[in-house]
Amino acid sequence: MKSGFVAIMGRPNAGKSTLVNALLSKTVSIVSPRAQTTREAIMGILNEKDKQIVFIDTPGLFVPKEALDKVMVASARESAKGVDAVAYLVDGSLESMAEDDALIASLKISCPLFICLNKIDLITAPIGEATITHFKEKFPSAQVLPMSALKNFGLKELKNGLLAVMKEGPQYFPADSLTDKDRSFQAKEAIRFELLRFLDEEVPHQCAVVVNSLIEKDNHVKIEATVFSEKKSQVGIVVGKGGDMIKKISMSARHRLETQFHEHVTLVVEVRFLEGWRDDPSKLATFGYGKSDDAK
Ligand code: GDP
Ligand code: MG
Repeated sequence: MKSGFVAIMGRPNAGKSTLVNALLSKTVSIVSPRAQTTREAIMGILNEKDKQIVFIDTPGLFVPKEALDKVMVASARESAKGVDAVAYLVDGSLESMAEDDALIASLKISCPLFICLNKIDLITAPIGEATITHFKEKFPSAQVLPMSALKNFGLKELKNGLLAVMKEGPQYFPADSLTDKDRSFQAKEAIRFELLRFLDEEVPHQCAVVVNSLIEKDNHVKIEATVFSEKKSQVGIVVGKGGDMIKKISMSARHRLETQFHEHVTLVVEVRFLEGWRDDPSKLATFGYGKSDDAK
């Protein structure tokens, strides 16, 4: 069979998670208008007759400031190693491509590279064409494709392009699997998604979610999770008046998980204060973000 790994790379917010979900027609990775929604690499698996592509959705590439940022960028760069192809997404709606030029060059990609000019639904045809020409000249060995992950444009071309460069290989995952992540991970991400949806500004970025237990019994999944807030003052915001906010968040997350699992879900979420977790490599490792070495 033909198989291989494809890293989806690019700056935060370029549309990487949207692309993976669209390619698989399923939500494997959470998407939000905010940068740095994806904190660690997630695999999405495309199964076709005699073919399997494992997409690695990565946290964005940027210049890291805090330990969590370092772990995220290290995780993204790590994903580019040893893959069979890279799809690098450019946010076409941004004016400057200089940062993307530098990032693509810094990755030193030796496998087939597809530069995807995403969000073309937001730009005019002449600008799109000029940008495509720019990347073709800059990276002559790459295939440059216009795309809208959101509007489902150009995805078939990318998929066919990728299938064409996959080599003979093993079936890495069972043919019915969609992601490498287990239900605990999905529960954590569903809660993070709702935190991003309901809370303003920096609050969700300063929260970590830990699933303490997940018990499956008779088509019923019972989950207990904790939201750790980095700032004491924000615990109240996450909990809300009379617990309103956390109730809203856990109810929405529960609905989301019920549609994903096709089973009844009970979800209990508590909120706690944990000082400075984002800048503490050992705490980051506890939350599953990277090897603790990445942050140093
Ligand atoms: P990531 O950080 O690269 O994973 O980006 P996301 O997939 O989380 O998307 C970031 C934002 O861009 C979300 O609001 C998406 O809905 C939006 N987005 C992604 N692809 C497109 C696209 O093709 N067109 C438009 N207009 N928006 C898009
Ligand atoms: Mg993402």
